[in-house]
Amino acid sequence: MLTHHHIDHVGLLYNIKKNVDCSFSKSYRLLTRPDIILTDGDKISTENYSFKIILTPGHSPGHICLYETNFKFLIAGDHILPKITPNIIPYKEDSNPLYDYFESLDKIDDYDVKKVLPGHQNVFTGCHRRIQELRDHHLDRCNEILQIIWEEELNAYQIASLLHWNVDCTSWNQFDPFQKWMAIGETISHLKFLESERFIDRVEKDEKIFYLAKLRNISSLRINRQRS
Ligand SMILES: [Zn+2]
Repeated sequence: MLTHHHIDHVGLLYNIKKNVDCSFSKSYRLLTRPDIILTDGDKISTENYSFKIILTPGHSPGHICLYETNFKFLIAGDHILPKITPNIIPYKEDSNPLYDYFESLDKIDDYDVKKVLPGHQNVFTGCHRRIQELRDHHLDRCNEILQIIWEEELNAYQIASLLHWNVDCTSWNQFDPFQKWMAIGETISHLKFLESERFIDRVEKDEKIFYLAKLRNISSLRINRQRS
């Protein structure tokens, strides 16, 4: 069972399915195609466990968590990680992944979760506290962006280069191409969210897109209700 399609979660799929199916003639493409696509509210039972499927898009489209209804543990995939923040990068042009992510955090917050089994790092408790930390992290980044573009229109690349990132580099120029790609993707996700919530304006000039803040910080947003 897979929580989402990212390569670090599906890398051994071919080997596992090949051995289970004993179908060596099947192509990689056939062996990595899902047999069943699970949807929100589906239930899966084994001898000892009963899982409810919770659709939690944001980190990826179609991401799912599995909630065990008797023992109250959560197989969280990359939705909620204990020490690192799942990257939130646009899936396609018209997606709003940070909005989806906040909605998905709210969704899990409604469950009584005793223990979280994340896709990276160790099993942890304190799911609701961690959800709040993740909300705060993205809210802080939104506010940092609003400060950066309060007086000056900038594009996503320029904004990304001015944000503070938790990486082992002292300047933007030291970021490797993959780190830059991730940082720009995260920045665009936050800009899309801020634009959809009408906190910033998008300005198009010479076929380039710039952003300008309408407010200096977020203090009354829907996601802020959990902070009060
Ligand atoms: Zn992932």
